[in-house]
Amino acid sequence: MTAPRFERAAIIGIGLIGSSLARVLRRDDLAGTIVACTRRAETLETARGLRIADAYTLDPAEAARGADLVVVAAPHSAYAEIGARIGPVLAPGAILTDVGSVKGAALRDLQPIVPPGVHFIPGHPVAGTEHSGPAAGFAEMFDGRWCILTPPAGSDAVALQRLTGMWESAGMKVVIMDAAHHDLVLAITSHLPHLIAYTIVGTAIDLEDTLKSEVIKFSAGGFRDFTRIAASDPVMWRDVFLSNREAVLAMLQRFTEDLTALQRAIRWGEGDKLEELFTRTRAIRRSIIEANQA
Ligand code: NAP
Repeated sequence: MTAPRFERAAIIGIGLIGSSLARVLRRDDLAGTIVACTRRAETLETARGLRIADAYTLDPAEAARGADLVVVAAPHSAYAEIGARIGPVLAPGAILTDVGSVKGAALRDLQPIVPPGVHFIPGHPVAGTEHSGPAAGFAEMFDGRWCILTPPAGSDAVALQRLTGMWESAGMKVVIMDAAHHDLVLAITSHLPHLIAYTIVGTAIDLEDTLKSEVIKFSAGGFRDFTRIAASDPVMWRDVFLSNREAVLAMLQRFTEDLTALQRAIRWGEGDKLEELFTRTRAIRRSIIEANQA
């Protein structure tokens, strides 16, 4: 698909994901003017110092005014406030999208403010790191990863095509999905693993001091991989769990049952059950490597 070109692209939230997208727009010449908007003046100054955009503002309405592409790239708890600010200034024909991790919440908070003639297509580039802020972003972040778009019924085909072209230019493989299905899939592939990592690292922190130092010393035994995930942005992840509550609770229920079954197998020395599960899970790892998603 040919890459689209936007006159004025406003990115509201210029952290890890927003700044990475801004770098792609700049690298691939996808926008005449890139406008960066953030909440705190110091983040804006960091973005300015990195020359991430062409214009900088703390006012979402100023960023979105006259833009033909508006990307919300802030934590979910900021969506309603951002929506209230940009709704009145969105121009007919503009594309409004986001990069948030929970698509039901994006629909809930942004759909009501979309004026007639504005094309609202929520999105989720499934890419990232445990770091935050504009300095942590890089254009190559999206290479070879999936981007899930969740266009509401009746979405404009040309707008969808333009947005798809933008993410493809970033190196992503674009897939269309229903928002509720997206939230269920991500609950198990992303949200629950983060919850488990936060829990296991929290459990280790709560152990008394001697054991804690041993935990750090011998972390290569498996714990280390959890600490990387558990270093992810606290505000973003607080918002993800609160925004995807039902799907996360449903997956957590299944997980808890499976954990109890494993606990029982260990207690009763049922090695065959353990080995059978570990063999199946090893095969999943192989398929992820084969799909180039390792
Ligand atoms: P981040 O690095 O912490 O950046 C968040 C940005 O949003 C910051 O620039 C912050 O500004 C800004 N912001 C917060 N409240 C705002 C408001 N009211 N108005 C304008 N800007 C505001 O976070 P991120 O990792 O890029 O995450 C952004 C979104 O991407 C989240 O919805 C997340 O679910 C999604 N996402 C994240 C990942 C990941 O791996 N991190 C992957 C895919 C999708 P200040 O610094 O000025 O407060």
